Amino acid sequence: MKQKVVVFSQLDQDILQRLQQQYHVVMINPKLGDINAQLLEQVKDADAMIGAGRLLNASNLATAQQLKIISSVSVGYDNYDMAYLNQKKIWLSNTPHVLTETTADLAFSLMLSAARKVPVLDQWTKQGNWQRTVGMMQFGQDIFSKNLGIIGLGNIGAAIARRGFYGFNMNILYHNRREKLELAQPLNARYCALDELLQQSDFVVLAVDLNAESKALMGQHEFDQMQSHAVFVNIARGSVVDEQALIATLKAGKIFAAGLDVYAKEPLQESELFALENVVTLPHVGSATAETRKKMAELAYRNLVDALEGRTPAYVLNPSFS
Ligand code: NAP
Repeated sequence: MKQKVVVFSQLDQDILQRLQQQYHVVMINPKLGDINAQLLEQVKDADAMIGAGRLLNASNLATAQQLKIISSVSVGYDNYDMAYLNQKKIWLSNTPHVLTETTADLAFSLMLSAARKVPVLDQWTKQGNWQRTVGMMQFGQDIFSKNLGIIGLGNIGAAIARRGFYGFNMNILYHNRREKLELAQPLNARYCALDELLQQSDFVVLAVDLNAESKALMGQHEFDQMQSHAVFVNIARGSVVDEQALIATLKAGKIFAAGLDVYAKEPLQESELFALENVVTLPHVGSATAETRKKMAELAYRNLVDALEGRTPAYVLNPSFS
């Protein structure tokens, strides 16, 4: 009998076809009603799950009897209750590295767009406002040679820092829980306490993973440390930021602008952010290029197949469930 795979979000068509050739595949379909009820029903006899963007925990996995792996098509894994997966001896795998450069590109797009008011000026031009030469209202901030502060110098943080260092001659500051000498030295990056980084950076980019210590890392105190011309960018996770504090900061014009890809609640359909000109809002598209999404799906597929064929996947996060 074929092993059963539950697909819990949209998936690359080629990968889906390959899965369907090898396994008994069941898709969770939002059009069929309550997702948790579908999951509880389908995971009972499932051997593996694959997908992204869904909270998976005791409330929708409790019926699983023989689930070996949840293969996430993402690098971030804050959607999954790791303690519960460990207790149930279910592997969780992710897709690091293949999305690093793409996500760093997006972070830089947000830095440039917010600093140079690209979306606002695009609208302004299309609306026929360009009747004479531009003035102060259309001016932005320089990027070249400025201070770039990275909070979370990991894979993506370092890729953003490389763009700043090599491409824009920027001075790199970074804050992590521990120094990252191997990543920092080639970029001449200086390790700082968080407040110092915020006070000295012209651009602050958040690239941490969401964990117990990074939750609400950027609150009102932190935004108050930033310079009035500074630009804040978040490509990490919405919950790393106190969104109300950010909105208050932007409304009061205490920083120049923000560029956001992620939010406390997604999808973001109503928000005070939409009324603000000094924020660029993107719909969580850090890794969203056709090439990269394919690579992520391929890697997630390999993780899943390895687990079902008795091998430890390359990117399993809890290999020994501890
Ligand atoms: P990574 O290599 O694990 O880097 C994360 C870094 O954050 C680590 O260097 C970690 O270092 C640091 N960190 C964690 N908690 C911290 C804290 N409280 N204070 C300061 N630094 C902290 O992961 P990555 O591949 O670069 O990905 C980072 C995150 O980006 C992912 O987890 C995901 O949430 C997000 N992401 C978003 C998108 C998007 O579409 N917008 C795409 C890809 C990834 P220490 O442990 O030493 O502190």
